[in-house]
Amino acid sequence: MLDIKLNLSTNKKEKPDPSKLSFGVYFTDNMFVMDYTEGKGWHDPRIEAYAPISLEPSAMVFHYAQESFEGLKAYRTADGTVQLFRPEKNAARMNKTHERMCIPQIPEEDFVQALKKLVEVEKDWVPSNEGTSLYLRPFVIATEPRLGVKPSDTYKFMIIASPVGAYYEEGINPVKIFVEDEYVRATPGGTGFIKCGGNYAASLASQVKAHDLGYSQVLWLDGVEHKYVEEVGSMNCFFKIDGTIYTAPTVGTVLPGITRMSCIELLEKWGYKVSTERLPIKDVMDAADDGKLEEVFGTGTAAVISPVGELRYEDRIAHINGGKIGEVTQKLYDTITGIQWGKIPDTMGWITKVD
Ligand SMILES: *Cc1c(COP(=O)(O)O)cnc(C)c1O
Repeated sequence: MLDIKLNLSTNKKEKPDPSKLSFGVYFTDNMFVMDYTEGKGWHDPRIEAYAPISLEPSAMVFHYAQESFEGLKAYRTADGTVQLFRPEKNAARMNKTHERMCIPQIPEEDFVQALKKLVEVEKDWVPSNEGTSLYLRPFVIATEPRLGVKPSDTYKFMIIASPVGAYYEEGINPVKIFVEDEYVRATPGGTGFIKCGGNYAASLASQVKAHDLGYSQVLWLDGVEHKYVEEVGSMNCFFKIDGTIYTAPTVGTVLPGITRMSCIELLEKWGYKVSTERLPIKDVMDAADDGKLEEVFGTGTAAVISPVGELRYEDRIAHINGGKIGEVTQKLYDTITGIQWGKIPDTMGWITKVD
């Protein structure tokens, strides 16, 4: 158990218009902070005013990117209570990231306690408009002031919170995806399976290219053969081909999404055949030509489920389900968002109440 000290902001900011929240633009009054020092461990857990922090220009995170992050949301239900979706999975995943990045472990129960306490303190910031939520961003940075390449001796663990708008303001519209055949996101032995900022820094050039070509996101192929589908931007990706639902295996180059895991659990419960065998992009495009590519969708905390209406790979274009959201995609969306916002009973044991 952490002994979290409260030193809260005395300045209560004005809340933004809940119909104009967008994503990650506004931040709440307070944040959680805890420090790590080699020999002493994690110490001084506290919630204090959200404010700029002071670091030496030589702090290691600025030079060698030793850092980690997570993302999850707090949801307000119809009766006004606030709840989290599988936060213990984020705690476990952050520790997997830390293993790979040589960052000290954070006990899972401390991570969840810190999240719950911050949400409790910032409860008024959890919006109640349809589809809105309070996005939570836990992250750790290496703070030791030194330019030698080695794991830092000091770290800061912080959680900031941001009220976010409904992802689909005007109904769920399928997105157009560009299949990246030049740049790669991850290679075996690398960092594709963890949440670290460096993965995103390296993905920007591809994202810019896709945007310039009129596509909203990138579908990554495997980094060795450029042959198998892996994931979409910051989402895992599912393909329904001739009745079977495929998603890439999480064996080192694909981020093990909690939404992905939840979709697989629901699909198997509903009796669908789910395959995590590697799927060649050529098979996806051929299936589209044969009329067997039934549904494609991305999964992640921000959008939950994002239907894909078009895929472009080299000079081939696949149109999926007449540009409309598919039946399984819709059912997953309704079920997961229903559980998150407390509209349907949590028979899966996925919800943690904050009060
Ligand atoms: C976070 C993330 C996901 C989605 O994970 P969720 O736990 O479902 O939000 C997928 N891919 C990448 C690269 C990510 O960083």
